[in-house]
Amino acid sequence: MFSKDKNISSSKLLPLDEVVQRLLDQADRLESEAIDSLSAIHRVLAQDVKSALAVPGFNNSAMDGYAVSTDDIPKENIELPVSQYIAAGDDPKPLPPKTAARIFTGAPIPKGADAVVIQEQTQVIESTEKRIRIHTVPVVGQNIRRVGEDIAIDSVVLPQGSQLNAASLGLIASIGITNLKVTRRPRVAIFSTGNELVTPGTVQPEDLPKGSIFNSNRYFLRGLLQDLQCEIKDMGVIPDQADATRRCLAEVAPDCDLILTSGGVSVGEEDHVKAAVESLGELHFWRLAMKPGKPFTYGCIPTQDKIKPTHFMGLPGNPISSFVTFLLLVRPFLLRLQGVHHTEPLSIQVPADFKCLPDKRRCFLRVQLQGTGGNQRLVPFANQSSGVLTSAVWADGLADIPAGQEVSAGDMVRFIPF
Ligand code: AMP
Ligand code: MG
Repeated sequence: MFSKDKNISSSKLLPLDEVVQRLLDQADRLESEAIDSLSAIHRVLAQDVKSALAVPGFNNSAMDGYAVSTDDIPKENIELPVSQYIAAGDDPKPLPPKTAARIFTGAPIPKGADAVVIQEQTQVIESTEKRIRIHTVPVVGQNIRRVGEDIAIDSVVLPQGSQLNAASLGLIASIGITNLKVTRRPRVAIFSTGNELVTPGTVQPEDLPKGSIFNSNRYFLRGLLQDLQCEIKDMGVIPDQADATRRCLAEVAPDCDLILTSGGVSVGEEDHVKAAVESLGELHFWRLAMKPGKPFTYGCIPTQDKIKPTHFMGLPGNPISSFVTFLLLVRPFLLRLQGVHHTEPLSIQVPADFKCLPDKRRCFLRVQLQGTGGNQRLVPFANQSSGVLTSAVWADGLADIPAGQEVSAGDMVRFIPF
């Protein structure tokens, strides 16, 4: 645990990369559990997956055609009798010299054969015995899938820390494994703060009291957490009151790995979250040199039942600030808790179709990737205000503009897809 940060009381803004690194340093991997691979999509491996067999397990044909020995076919248009018929699942006899074997995709290559000629390069000759004419001169190994060419015996097919996607689940099945050790799901408690917040569905839109707004953060935060396989304890809306905030934090802290809140972390008198965290545990840093997202807060709350304190992250209330700080700070942290090594978001360089003046803070603009091929470019949403959720729905991702950098149209900019 790092020591309490002087930055809490100072006005210095911390660089995003430094804060992400410090968060990752706090994210000790959670315990593991055994699950069936059928329900393991997007979970993170807590073990290396090793293969007890080679894949393919035997040399087999990649095509429908004829298995031959290349020694028998020195030139084009050689004719050979067909000595056997090998379908997938058969156990073939050795190939007699100067014959061809009819063979199908996935069927074992007979001993003595070293190539497969695809049927389109042959012609069946009508006669009493079945014969074929081979139009081409095959080369050794052609159209043969070699034993172990995909997976060697005893090799690690997926290392610990891999997040399982559909392809990796297929790969694991191909080596006969169904039981996997994965990191357990992070348990995340969430609540939104704000006297103005109304839960959608409890009031008709036309009856929304003056000054109130619907709680939108809860809905996208839940979606983002579900995408990261978290178990969610949802405490709904907590009013802007010091006691209520402290009570809620104290109630959820023993049962979760992370408490994630939105709102109430700015500097106004109605912002009680930071003081409540400090009264129960420690606040480590807040105020980031990024736009949107400056008031992001991290802390931790010790509890009697757990050896490790519960992590706390306070996101700003403005929906876009909340959304962006989740993607750039909370997401890598939750991935690392599950044991993922590479938590950096994927990004590419794309020319900007806009200009902007230098800003003291690193800016993340909501942009669309427009055009195709060499004409691709980043177009920003017209209203970049941190309250405008429409921008995040319209956009394909974020343009990452370093602090102090002026951007002119055509400049290459880092694009982080959502
Ligand atoms: P705060 O960070 O609490 O000062 O809130 C900043 C702005 O975000 C205010 O306009 C709030 O009304 C708004 N806001 C706070 N929480 C939410 C929420 N859960 N859903 C939508 N807007 C919110
Ligand atoms: Mg508020």
